[in-house]
Amino acid sequence: MSARTGTGLLCLLAAMGAALACEPGKQRARPDVLLITIDTLRADYVHAYGFPLEITPSIDALAARGVLFENAIAAATLTAPAHASIMTSRYVREHSIGSRNGDTRLHGLSTLAETFSEAGYSTAAFISNAVLRRRIGLDRGFETYDDELPSRERNRGNYFERIAEETAGNALEWLALRPAADPVFLWLHLQDPHGPYTPPAEWVGRVGDFPLSIRRPLGTLRANSGRAGIPLYQVLEDEIDPAFYAGRYAEEIQYADHWVGQVIAAVERHGEERGSVILLTADHGESLGESGWFFQHGQSTAPELARVPFVLAAPGLEAARIRGPVSHVDIAPTLIALAGLPELPGARGRALEEEIRNGEVAEDRLIFCDTDGESAAYSPGSWTRVGGSIASDRVGDVMQATRAESIRLTETGKWRPSDLDSRALRGLEEYLEARTPLVAAGPMEPQHIDELRALGYLPPAEEEPEEPDPRAAEAPVSENLSH
Ligand SMILES: [Zn+2]
Repeated sequence: MSARTGTGLLCLLAAMGAALACEPGKQRARPDVLLITIDTLRADYVHAYGFPLEITPSIDALAARGVLFENAIAAATLTAPAHASIMTSRYVREHSIGSRNGDTRLHGLSTLAETFSEAGYSTAAFISNAVLRRRIGLDRGFETYDDELPSRERNRGNYFERIAEETAGNALEWLALRPAADPVFLWLHLQDPHGPYTPPAEWVGRVGDFPLSIRRPLGTLRANSGRAGIPLYQVLEDEIDPAFYAGRYAEEIQYADHWVGQVIAAVERHGEERGSVILLTADHGESLGESGWFFQHGQSTAPELARVPFVLAAPGLEAARIRGPVSHVDIAPTLIALAGLPELPGARGRALEEEIRNGEVAEDRLIFCDTDGESAAYSPGSWTRVGGSIASDRVGDVMQATRAESIRLTETGKWRPSDLDSRALRGLEEYLEARTPLVAAGPMEPQHIDELRALGYLPPAEEEPEEPDPRAAEAPVSENLSH
């Protein structure tokens, strides 16, 4: 495919940093593009973002030579809607997955992968979380969409997942078969920091009991979500010390980071001549005791859930730390621009080249974050949310029926209630007018229904109607927020 469209931006970027040959009229080879999303990785557990222990050497190395955005806000605090925003550059209320997790599908919007595929890239995705299976429609544009999930989650046998070694291993095998001259767009999704926190045996104990400010023993909740206790799906043996769980969480991150490093190195080897664009983020964070919420996500749009790592390295980009704010919706426009491809139609985000050039993002920018029943607007040091109890698919109820509040970051680094931020509230009112109809996900694959049946979550086959109601099969998968 032609490389003409990218020459201008790449020359511009080259002028900002290391020299790249940009002779007018000369066609430029496409860079390889690697997008890494790590599930449930809160920004402040990455060393480059201030975590005291060096548990993320691969991410840190990327940040040291790339651009680190200090205030990156997830579009959602749930897996499927956040990834849909990454792939479409639309906020949650602007795509058909909405704030639902795993039971709605993407419909009618162009995607990042389609853009790369249409430009002649080899495209592949390797995912590790059941709610990202191809039935939710994020497979569009990927020639390979590897969603084989061989492992049962420890405490919820009806959830299937895959550990980093296997997901990354498949990605490495795929990459090894691609000719060096062929540009690739590769999406790697790693699930490991998602609870329950069960790193492989050889990674256990490397961090130990990480000191949290909360040291009192916790009780066990009777549900998979709730306050002031350990959610059922997270319980490990008879452990009740929150520091034990924080330590295991950090070890999962350390394990995932190891495989991140392997894949980054392989992509860089593959695209050596042409250069590589690499962007790493997380779909959302995790509560580790904030406001009494332990070891879960999706329950609100709070900062520990919304703030994610966002690190970008590309040919010609100088190392920098940028305060932000930036969003998941900026990822597709940025990657597409760095590869020199035509813009994604209707993108809500920004290609961040101007921000990178200026070393800063305009302070007046509002970033939106959603979960089921709550929408928020972030600006630097300020978080304003509306909702709290009303399901987001009941259009119109959210603003009228529930609370609104603003919370600001103090000089001591704590979030404290403040006067209502009228600018953020106005922005939210406008944002909440958007309402894309949700589209139900397709039926589950027969083998996935068989998995549930084998585990006793569905009745035996002979009791099923001839055309199984896909919603019956979905129920166990979508019932819990924390995924
Ligand atoms: Zn997730």
